[in-house]
Amino acid sequence: MPNMQPKKTPMPVQEPDVRNKNFKEVALGYTEKDAVNEAGRCLGCKNRPCVEGCPVGVDIPEFIAAIGRENFTEASTIIRKTNSLPAVCGRVCPQETQCEALCVRGKKGESVAIGRLERFASEYYTVAATTSPVTSIGHRVAVIGSGPAGLTCAGDLAAAGVDVTVFEAFHASGGVLVYGIPEFRLPKAIVSEEIDKLKALGVKIETNMLIGKILTIDDLFAQGFSAVFLGTGAGLPTFMNIPGESLVGVYSANELLTRVNLMKAYEYGAETPVLPFKNAVVIGGGNVAMDAARCAKRLGADSVTIVYRRGEAELPARLEEIHHAMEEGIIFKFLTAPVEIIGDENFRVKSLVCEEMELGEPDKSGRRRPVPKPNSRFTIECDCVIPAIGTSPNPLIMRTTPDLEFDRRGCVVIDETCATNKKGVFAGGDISSGAATVILAMGAGKLAAASILEFLRNA
Ligand code: FAD
Ligand code: SF4
Repeated sequence: MPNMQPKKTPMPVQEPDVRNKNFKEVALGYTEKDAVNEAGRCLGCKNRPCVEGCPVGVDIPEFIAAIGRENFTEASTIIRKTNSLPAVCGRVCPQETQCEALCVRGKKGESVAIGRLERFASEYYTVAATTSPVTSIGHRVAVIGSGPAGLTCAGDLAAAGVDVTVFEAFHASGGVLVYGIPEFRLPKAIVSEEIDKLKALGVKIETNMLIGKILTIDDLFAQGFSAVFLGTGAGLPTFMNIPGESLVGVYSANELLTRVNLMKAYEYGAETPVLPFKNAVVIGGGNVAMDAARCAKRLGADSVTIVYRRGEAELPARLEEIHHAMEEGIIFKFLTAPVEIIGDENFRVKSLVCEEMELGEPDKSGRRRPVPKPNSRFTIECDCVIPAIGTSPNPLIMRTTPDLEFDRRGCVVIDETCATNKKGVFAGGDISSGAATVILAMGAGKLAAASILEFLRNA
């Protein structure tokens, strides 16, 4: 008999007033009792609608049933068949617009907490379970970029017997999972455990290797790699093109998050600190904006305001992050757009001039276009402004690989198999889609790995 309780089993969390002063994980994870209780809410639907919503096709009812039987290792093994980073996805996937959006329990009450259960099960998978020896197929493949696209591609190729080397520009691997998403949402230890599992499969990772500067893609072929996967993401921040953006105290969200997450700017004596600030304004409404705002709060700001040009209903960030940000005391100014950043005599940020917006006709994205309200300008006093309005691919690979095709946004052009126009070069994740999600990057990495194996078979 299923558990017909209409709401999800609550996730234990740190109290808002405690957690907004530390960088430890906010959500503490289900206990065994919570997980079994929540698994009991799943109806085990024969037509598996939730699986349709999962970009990597995790066998959701099957893994939840295994949790229900208290066979947590089996649950984890089922997820691992199709998802190589479940501890990450369980924490950061936008489940409410994917698997959980299609869950039948969501029609009368809340959907099954699939993401929370995935996170719970992921803890029952050990490195030892991944180390069965693999027969080499005698090919070397270079993976450029160690974000979720690159890591997934590398894992699938290594499991099929390919000798894989990942080249990563930063000193640490994981892509946005380590330099962007903060510790309080995705602890670095979780990402390094996942990376250790890939290393146990034989994946080699070379950090501090900026491809396009140290080696080009053609150099990699000359070194004997049979194919290349390009998973370099979209890490180049977009600015607003308003006056005052070069004042001291303006950080792109990517810069702030990299300083804080990867370089631990919150620790005394950090080599890449952040200027102390009291009142920060973050521009944007996506996950990046939420992360930047919540980091700013944890750095000790008295006030942190999110300025977003559309309304609350249009916020693109994950629902959970929006709720957590609100609980932590982040102020939201909806239907508001920045106009100019004002500096003091030392060129430091002093305030931000904004104007009110109203929603007009839908634009190309189908969302109603924000238009300025006449005579509605006002000023927010602040000493730090953090634009978080989007990113695009870094042009380095484009500049150093002239025979590779890119589109007008600077994204590499791929076909439905993730192949580019250059023989032996495949791509996926944010470098080809533009800024998207972890699970879509993983899905692309998976598809590319299958295409690369096919390419190697015919080579
Ligand atoms: P990335 O993760 O960007 O990895 C690319 C890697 O390539 C990086 O490590 C980079 O250093 C490396 N690289 C770049 N150029 C070179 C080069 N020339 N040579 C060698 N290495 C290179 N998605 C979600 O699903 N849920 C979330 O909650 C979420 N929150 C986010 C929060 C933030 C702050 C950000 C920035 C993004 C967030 N996203 C989220 C989006 C998600 O993280 C990305 O869509 C995903 O990481 C893209 O994966 P990727 O592998 O394509 O690229
Ligand atoms: Fe379980 Fe919901 Fe999937 Fe049905 S749709 S199998 S209830 S998770």
